[in-house]
Amino acid sequence: MTHLEIYQFACLSDNYGVLLHDPKTGETASIDAPEAAAVRAALDEKGWSLSHILTTHHHHDHTGGNLELKQQTGCTIVGPKAEAAKIPGIDVQLAEGDVYDFGSTTVQVFETPGHTLGQINYWFENENLLFSGDTLFSLGCGRVFEGTLDQMWSSLQKLMALPGGTVIYSGHEYTLANAAFALSIEPGNAALRARAELIKEMRAHNEPTVPTTLQLELETNPFLRPDSA
Ligand code: ZN
Ligand code: FE
Repeated sequence: MTHLEIYQFACLSDNYGVLLHDPKTGETASIDAPEAAAVRAALDEKGWSLSHILTTHHHHDHTGGNLELKQQTGCTIVGPKAEAAKIPGIDVQLAEGDVYDFGSTTVQVFETPGHTLGQINYWFENENLLFSGDTLFSLGCGRVFEGTLDQMWSSLQKLMALPGGTVIYSGHEYTLANAAFALSIEPGNAALRARAELIKEMRAHNEPTVPTTLQLELETNPFLRPDSA
């Protein structure tokens, strides 16, 4: 039963910001905070006031707005325990399996190391929503900077076990470049070819290709297709 309202906006060069609003309680979370001004403009546009920042990982393009937004709104900053020392203003530290109350619902935490060592993803089971940060992208996955390829693969496997209808929001608009790479790996995948055409069209009109769904990724994202020849 979906009742949270979602507002996604582009910011920085290719990041996405997302606001998650619970109309029952009036609370609003920003998924990461790429830059304070863009998050504030989105809040103003919706008329929502910020109560939380849910941080996925420590990179500056995901935490750059933390301190300014906290100073302005008094919001609670939630983030990965394993990267707590690197998350500006962190109040609440979460780890694998933790369940956190947000608004009138709850969110579950997966640790998904690979891109960074302590990255976490947020799964709102009741809403069929996953915020995958820089772990899983439309048609791709995050560059493995701090972890190992094995770590990234076990992180992706956690996400692959979620229901196929899960709607996935990720941190960046990388889909067009990802599609070219995916096609080089699986040129014969008809679902992928059709999706790549659609993506070209969408990007030509500056439409976001995020969110995606797990089912769509399982059919077309080469990083989730270990059984494909
Ligand atoms: Zn990152
Ligand atoms: Fe990023």
